[in-house]
Amino acid sequence: MTLARTRDLVDAAVASRSAVLAFNVITLEHAEGVVTGLERAGVPGLLQVSENAVRYRHGHHEPLLAACQELGAAATVPVALHLDHVQDAALLRLGIATAWRYGVSSVMVDAAHLAYDENVAATATWGRDAHAAGLWVEAELGEVGGKDGAHAPGVRTDPDEAARFVAATGVDGLAVAVGSSHAMVTATASLDLDLVARLAASVPVPLVLHGSSGVPHDVLQEAVRAGIRKVNVGTALNVVLTEQVRRVLRDDERVTDPRRYLAAGRDAVADAVAATCAVVLAA
Ligand SMILES: [Zn+2]
Repeated sequence: MTLARTRDLVDAAVASRSAVLAFNVITLEHAEGVVTGLERAGVPGLLQVSENAVRYRHGHHEPLLAACQELGAAATVPVALHLDHVQDAALLRLGIATAWRYGVSSVMVDAAHLAYDENVAATATWGRDAHAAGLWVEAELGEVGGKDGAHAPGVRTDPDEAARFVAATGVDGLAVAVGSSHAMVTATASLDLDLVARLAASVPVPLVLHGSSGVPHDVLQEAVRAGIRKVNVGTALNVVLTEQVRRVLRDDERVTDPRRYLAAGRDAVADAVAATCAVVLAA
């Protein structure tokens, strides 16, 4: 199978009033675990590489994207590649220019930290370039807490402003602030489901939920029912991967072969992905 395209997976989610799950990848073990989990659940999904993940690779986006490309293309379910939370102009330029090489089919232009007018201008400009390269474009409005953005606790996206933002920028998907927050290691956030429904009614493009690791699975399911069409999951995978690495190293202090603990971490990622897909996408 070749890599799927984000646009097709999101369109399918819209048509079935479901969602596509998008998982953030930091290491090769993340990517392998995510693909295994998606295959076990029998659902399509996205591998996402964020600007932060690229920064961890000394600013090089190629090695991890190439690995994701190979893994996604070999998967038995449709897998697409996405560049997540890109703020840096140089990486945006490079990511858009080289997307074709790695099979990347979407990008999140993250200008939500800017004032509204500047967010509109930056998103519209980068969005045009990304569209010219054939990419599906996601942007964010309202800053989801945790990165002090639209995903900060207490921040909410206004439905009328969101509709104006989409019209002014031409983006294909919109990340909204509805109560979730980035980097939460416990699933204790509550979502404003009424706001999700109002946003879904007024915004003409699919809604994206960031910070989903902090939201209980049953609430995520309700968010999808209310209109969320792309669900981003990152931190929850890091939590289970690290827990298992810690367990293996604690149980046997003589372990030196990284395969021993990384295999446990990778298995935990696969389990978490399969479980998340099963619950969130349950009809
Ligand atoms: Zn995010």
